[in-house]
Amino acid sequence: MDELQKYIRDVADFPKKGIIFKDISPLLANANAFGRAVEAMAAPYKEQNIDKVVGIESRGFIFGVAISTLLHCGFIPVRKPGKLPFKTLKKEYALEYGTDAVEMHVDAIKPGERVLVVDDVLATGGTMQAACELLGQAKADIVGLCFFMELAFLNGRERLLAAPMTTVLTYN
Ligand code: AMP
Repeated sequence: MDELQKYIRDVADFPKKGIIFKDISPLLANANAFGRAVEAMAAPYKEQNIDKVVGIESRGFIFGVAISTLLHCGFIPVRKPGKLPFKTLKKEYALEYGTDAVEMHVDAIKPGERVLVVDDVLATGGTMQAACELLGQAKADIVGLCFFMELAFLNGRERLLAAPMTTVLTYN
């Protein structure tokens, strides 16, 4: 799977100075590579009776929807504030400067449903942690946290001990 690294483009100083942005555009543009990526992400969960894949805005939607079709289950979007049209649950979380929040429709998950949470990159883990707390409000059973890439040097994994985690590519 490390061979898939060649489809990830490093963009220096985006969106701000000092960040090396992991651009998935070349991966998405290649049907074979993207197919292998989502197959690898879905594989550990094929026998796990997942009820819903939850994708985090916005690149978590791209991977999450593809994985939900492979697992034959529904897809639930977790979005930035103000984007979802119906009543929502909300969880605020701290950024380096200020706060952000994630929202999900109140009726998206039934208590006890088995969910797999998907995003493209694990960086500091703050976004995934907030999504997990939101899913806790909905009384979801979080079966796994599924990323395509982990930036291991940021230690995001240490904040996410609530559920087993899988990643396809690891950057040390
Ligand atoms: P964090 O909350 O720090 O784990 O950041 C996670 C979110 O920010 C994910 O949704 C990623 O898509 C995005 N992100 C953070 N760092 C990067 C990076 N270096 N390259 C691409 N996306 C990133």
